[in-house]
Amino acid sequence: MAYDYDLFVIGAGSGGVRASRIAAGHGARVGICEDYRVGGTCVIRGCVPKKLLVYGSKFAHEFEDAAAYGWSGLEPVHSWATLRDNVQKEVDRLNGVYLKLLDGAGVKLHMGRGRLMDRHTIAIGEQTVTAGKILIATGGHPVVPEIPGKQFAITSNEAFHLPDPLPKRITIVGAGYIAVEFAGIFNGLGSEVDLVLRRDFVLRGFDEECRLAVHEALKESGIRLRTETQIARIEATDGKAPFTIVTTAGGSFQTDVVMYATGRAPNTSGLGLEKVGVQLDKAGAIAVDEWSRSTAPNIWAVGDVTDRINLTPVAIMEGHCFADTEFGNKPRKPDHRDVPSAVFCQPELANVGLTEEEAALRLGEIRVYTARFKPMKYTLSGRNQRTFMKLIVEEATDRVVGVHMVGDDAAELIQGLAVAVKAGATKALFDATVGIHPAAGEEFVTMRTPRIEAAPTRRAAE
Ligand code: FAD
Ligand code: NDP
Repeated sequence: MAYDYDLFVIGAGSGGVRASRIAAGHGARVGICEDYRVGGTCVIRGCVPKKLLVYGSKFAHEFEDAAAYGWSGLEPVHSWATLRDNVQKEVDRLNGVYLKLLDGAGVKLHMGRGRLMDRHTIAIGEQTVTAGKILIATGGHPVVPEIPGKQFAITSNEAFHLPDPLPKRITIVGAGYIAVEFAGIFNGLGSEVDLVLRRDFVLRGFDEECRLAVHEALKESGIRLRTETQIARIEATDGKAPFTIVTTAGGSFQTDVVMYATGRAPNTSGLGLEKVGVQLDKAGAIAVDEWSRSTAPNIWAVGDVTDRINLTPVAIMEGHCFADTEFGNKPRKPDHRDVPSAVFCQPELANVGLTEEEAALRLGEIRVYTARFKPMKYTLSGRNQRTFMKLIVEEATDRVVGVHMVGDDAAELIQGLAVAVKAGATKALFDATVGIHPAAGEEFVTMRTPRIEAAPTRRAAE
């Protein structure tokens, strides 16, 4: 039977765009649909606009530190409208770049929401198309818990479009990637930030010492951390700010914006998955095997909708491997080991490999090397910020199995070291590497004395 397309992709985000372009490059006839904006979460309302806001907010600290370096006359005033609108202009530009990329690759774009009618038929609005193979790359959406007053809360989707001027007080609920990143952004841009978290420390799942280092740094930067706090309801007079946040313990406080960053869920509803035999896992993500194949024989899924590691480069890797395997005659499984990641809080946290807690549990005997120091840049300005670095080494093999850093430019540094970890570099090889002086990174190759006691600093599993 002749189908309209060899491959049809639902969702033109990081994973979908990469898969469709590569498949088309291998000679496949490819169609893709998108119901919001081509580029997906990362480009439109995730990584890119977020990182630009981080850059924008960091100037505040630079201005403060400049005085000790002899600069005077700086009385900076920030315009949220300028930053917000410039960021959106860049988002529009990138959206255009993505449209051109699809066009240039010969991928046919259908704007509209896609849903499966049967295993080979996709409806996009009134239109239907057929395809031999289908890839679902629909990403995820923010989840806000069901509490009275939920309608007053925004999520990261709306945070990029807040009206000018920025509110005086912003409350962020959650303690994961998005919560700590936006806490830093709004704090730097001059709002008073309350971070409300249900546990005792931010960033559960990261190396415990790094969590503590970030937690302390957030506090030091002036963010109010309301730990072990749950919100019972949000109240408002006439449905407008200011809002009163009432906690389950009975306390309350006022704020002008409430932003929930309490996780994301895969976009699976309304896709017709049940009709075609695509099963979900317990968490509601599309269940896939190591080749990203779903439980239906001609349907695959990549990216956040599969809830493996929800990062852009991972969605891209999964999409690329799928296209090479199915259309390029180059079978390739995505490799989810040693994926580096960074949290763009201020200062940043970045890591690759195992945490100390994971390494102790999985490998038994390990050596742990740490360094904590005031960065040279802050010696003159006196900023009370420390850099923390950590290497975890498997005793039996001398292999470096985890590298962690909390400090300026951690993401840039860890990206390079991720190659070393992926290549199986030993601690001896790190020691044999000459440092770059003066640079924070040289610490990673000059850590000589392991911490004697390699026990976890806090309980590993909560
Ligand atoms: P997406 O990029 O979400 O793309 C899915 C696309 O499918 C969307 O465009 C959506 O509109 C479309 N769609 C959904 N349903 C349908 C349908 N039925 N029909 C047609 N189209 C549909 N990751 C990083 O690596 N680094 C970061 O710094 C980073 N920062 C982030 C900051 C924020 C605020 C957020 C929310 C996420 C961030 N991420 C970051 C995560 C990253 O954005 C995602 O992991 C990545 O975008 C996942 O790609 P994807 O292709 O799976 O889905
Ligand atoms: P995360 O899963 O990282 O964090 C969710 C946070 O919300 C956790 O602190 C969690 O607490 C808390 N939480 C969950 N439910 C509730 C609740 N009912 N009440 C109070 N708190 C709650 O999700 P994010 O939304 O921050 O980000 C989604 C994903 O997007 C990330 O996991 C990451 O994969 C990706 N991302 C990546 C970025 C990057 O690479 N720099 C940046 C932004 C997002 P607890 O720990 O107690 O469960």
